Amino acid sequence: MSVRDIIILGCSSQQPTRRRNHGAYLFRWNDEGLLFDPGEGTQRQFIFANVAPPVVSRIFISHFHGDHCLGLGSMLMRLNLDKVTHQIHCYYPASGKKYFDRLRYGTIYHETISVVEHPVSAEGLVHDDGRFRIEATFLEHGVDNIGWRITEPDTRKFNREKLNALGVFGPAVRELQQHGFIVINGKKVTLDDVSVIRKGDSIAIVIDTRYCQNAINIARDAKVLLCESTYLDEHRDLAYKHFHLTAKEAATIAKEANAKKLILTHFSARYLSLLDFEVEARSIFPNTDVADDMLTFPFER
Ligand SMILES: [Zn+2]
Ligand SMILES: [Zn+2]
Repeated sequence: MSVRDIIILGCSSQQPTRRRNHGAYLFRWNDEGLLFDPGEGTQRQFIFANVAPPVVSRIFISHFHGDHCLGLGSMLMRLNLDKVTHQIHCYYPASGKKYFDRLRYGTIYHETISVVEHPVSAEGLVHDDGRFRIEATFLEHGVDNIGWRITEPDTRKFNREKLNALGVFGPAVRELQQHGFIVINGKKVTLDDVSVIRKGDSIAIVIDTRYCQNAINIARDAKVLLCESTYLDEHRDLAYKHFHLTAKEAATIAKEANAKKLILTHFSARYLSLLDFEVEARSIFPNTDVADDMLTFPFER
């Protein structure tokens, strides 16, 4: 089984600290690498994480504040240097096209990789290529800023014992998959007799927003919600003023959305310790973890 995990490459907000790099989040999922909001220095964070950059197949930019995109150019150049042959899909708010172009072509390099751009101008389904279904919503951050929901397709899981009991082996399984049924020894066996549909998982990424209904909607029933929480409750006035969330607000979004797990990130540089983020969020949504640079969170089926 391929690896399914979330690697926190950085978790600071606007200003990095000695311990926390600009944000960047790598989801390794179904043999792909989905990279969200590569901030400054992301390329080097891959080295510390011991992950080879060519795993990246899709890059998502929520918005064009520097802490969410300054690493885009260097990541694309790195993938170019590594001569990746697969397509790199890039998703970003369409109104930021000029920033995307500047970041992509900010320096001299001979581009050989295949970059497929998906500028997003409307909410809803952005892309569905059979491997992932990508949906977008606009959040409240004072600039065009996208919250994402990524869903893998449903799959069928066969019950080996039932297959054996009904005498369905080898090529017959493939035939059953193709036609939906097969006749064995004069008896009809359907797919539902020997398998169940396993719903694909969804994950949601909500980074840089005020508390809003769209954040809840995009995270509905998500297996994992990666959510910003720039501030603690004592600074909730600042959070509102700067279009950000507190840990408690992020936890409320997770709770209202019925998400299964919450990971907090995007912490203001004013906080040396992140312990209070965990305490405040868990008082509302117990299954909360706090990101830190180089932490890995597996998300099993
Ligand atoms: Zn930010
Ligand atoms: Zn921002």
